[in-house]
Amino acid sequence: VGLDALTEWHQQHPRGATSHKGRQGDVVVLGGAPGMRGAAWLAATAALTAGAGRVYAALPDDDGQPWPARPELMHWPAQRWRQPQAWRDAVVVCGCGGDTGILPWLDAVLHEARHLVVDADGLNLVADDEALRKRLAARRSHGLQTMLTPHPLEAARLLGLAGAAAIQSDRLAAAKALAERFDCTVVLKGSGTVIASPGHLPDINSSGSPALATAGTGDVLAGWAGGLWAQAPDAEAHTVARTAVLWHGAAAQDHAGPLRAADLIEAMGALRRA
Ligand code: AMP
Ligand code: MG
Repeated sequence: VGLDALTEWHQQHPRGATSHKGRQGDVVVLGGAPGMRGAAWLAATAALTAGAGRVYAALPDDDGQPWPARPELMHWPAQRWRQPQAWRDAVVVCGCGGDTGILPWLDAVLHEARHLVVDADGLNLVADDEALRKRLAARRSHGLQTMLTPHPLEAARLLGLAGAAAIQSDRLAAAKALAERFDCTVVLKGSGTVIASPGHLPDINSSGSPALATAGTGDVLAGWAGGLWAQAPDAEAHTVARTAVLWHGAAAQDHAGPLRAADLIEAMGALRRA
């Protein structure tokens, strides 16, 4: 795998000797519906490991259920967030289940978050709601940047197609169509992840391994992308996406045997230090 792009990223985004957590980027992970806490935890831990200064987990439906130990994370009910300044440098929507209770928060971040990564059921909720789809497509014209990280079935739903086969038969075209439709960066996941953005030639990622085909690795990718973006707010969404996907795949490739998503985060952190 050509890791030059990772070296380049590190050279372009050094952590200065006088850096402070308040200047290293804040990430808010919006999600963690009951039963899906692990997804938000993985995304938040990934954002932290990617180097974000502070990571907040915002749970729209905080039922007081225990949260897996990760003492560095701040864990607040979404109701604590005050608009419009509340949504920090990057927001990652992930692990929100199909619960429509999150819709007002999703609407708020679509209106206000400067850098937004939407994954999994967040994508499905947008796919099923015309107002949210319109809002998403209008973000770039309001100076807000977005990255969508669908797997093929989520991509099909966003395009209003019946199933993943329609996406898989021409992944490049599907990713480009989504990027055009929603005027944002699209990471179409799966073997040979495609990264497409308006005005860019699409990229096909060269790293990765079938060991990634396990629960939670998509949440790790979304969180990692948010963590990088918070630290590099002026970077283009396309570059952030390409870097995160390369890093994720390279770390998985180095890992022997079956992979657990939490171990992937550690492997990605180790690759960073290499
Ligand atoms: P998700 O579909 O959200 O669970 O995310 C799965 C993650 O693993 C994505 O980053 C996929 O690109 C990656 N992945 C899954 N299966 C494979 C595979 N066979 N080869 C390479 N990457 C894969
Ligand atoms: Mg997923």
